[in-house]
Amino acid sequence: MKAEILAVGTEILLGNIVNTNAHYISNRLAELGIEVYHQSVVGDNAERLKEAYELAFSRADLVITTGGLGPTKDDLTKEVAFDYFGKEAVLHEESLKSIENFFNTINISMDKSNIKQAYFPKDAIIMNNSVGTAPGCIIQEKDKILAVLPGPPREMKAMFEECLIPYLKKFQQGVLESKTLRIIGIGESKVASMIEDIIDNSVNPTVAPYAKEGEVTLRITAKAKDPEEANELISPVEKEIRDRLGEAVYGEGEVSIEEVVGKLLVENKFTIAIAESCTGGLLSGTLINYPGISEVFKEGFITYTNEAKIKRLKVKKEVLEKYGAVSSQTAAEMAEGAAKASGTDIALSTTGIAGPGGGSDEKPVGLVFVGLYIKGEVKTKEFNLIGDRQRIRNATVIRTLEWLRREILKCLGK
Ligand code: ATP
Ligand code: MG
Repeated sequence: MKAEILAVGTEILLGNIVNTNAHYISNRLAELGIEVYHQSVVGDNAERLKEAYELAFSRADLVITTGGLGPTKDDLTKEVAFDYFGKEAVLHEESLKSIENFFNTINISMDKSNIKQAYFPKDAIIMNNSVGTAPGCIIQEKDKILAVLPGPPREMKAMFEECLIPYLKKFQQGVLESKTLRIIGIGESKVASMIEDIIDNSVNPTVAPYAKEGEVTLRITAKAKDPEEANELISPVEKEIRDRLGEAVYGEGEVSIEEVVGKLLVENKFTIAIAESCTGGLLSGTLINYPGISEVFKEGFITYTNEAKIKRLKVKKEVLEKYGAVSSQTAAEMAEGAAKASGTDIALSTTGIAGPGGGSDEKPVGLVFVGLYIKGEVKTKEFNLIGDRQRIRNATVIRTLEWLRREILKCLGK
């Protein structure tokens, strides 16, 4: 089944609201294995709405609309749809009752204009609106299906989940299972080229990479008759991908790098302190996103100036003068200083040039040094990052946490 989502509303075209309905529906349909080939948006205009239906049904079996079910004249979605299918709408008593009930429960007397919301063709399947007024409907005409949902996301979701999903499940054969692998330290295009043949030849399961803030995710999706069979299809492909990408795969599913690192620290009772210059608290803040971190996180230092680095972390003045604040030597002293000041097993440090100004030929914007003190040893790492200030700071955080993850595993002999 090929689907198209048609969002109706001039507000969306004007950029007043974001089309989150399409985002939600696409996501859910993908999980159900229904392919969405197009998403479109049309304003509250009868002629263009009709054209939109014609176009959508010329290329899709299932068209799902959202919006334009309200009581006012510019709410046209249903009327134009009925007209498109050549169907006459009649008053649906039950719907009228449920609309009246809705107004009764919120203690408002129903306006006459709301009666319009209870008109449907005789053979339409009515979808109840459990959280608002306007019911929706499904019209099945030969091999074409139209599902009409309300615009407000809360109402749309409730109707989609309670009414449309159960209806669509009847058409579904088998299951669709997917597994997400999360990768840090290799860019999207590099990942894609390392497993190019797998991606290109992937039919069932399919393999698709997505880039997200500083990391790459790979989604492996299999269609099968049951979950066991789907997992059997996914397993060998997953193994091959893991073999090729190695340690860069830091986790799977809905997990974040701070969660992975946070768990490692807590499970192994490794206490940690963090000294930050260019990330200005972002690294500590990110790690602290992990709820259990209070057991091991002792202190964070935002040491932005040289004086602060000297005063709080005992970075040597000569080191700062000789190598500069942005140097591996300074990063090393910051990490060691933070660990000593806080008495922790581990300390991280960051120092770099986040831009947009402040770079030089020798030390360009995006040059970042990070330090790690771990069980008496001090290590440093250099990153050469690109992008604006925010991106450089974010990437520093993600990569530093990923580096820590690997170093902890090494330390544990894994
Ligand atoms: P109402 O009875 O409230 O008029 P409706 O079904 O006619 O509902 P619209 O008038 O099109 O829906 O939209 C009502 C509100 O729902 C919009 O102001 C907007 O806040 C939200 N909305 C509509 N369409 C979308 C969409 N595609 N994505 C996200 N929000 C939407
Ligand atoms: Mg409306």
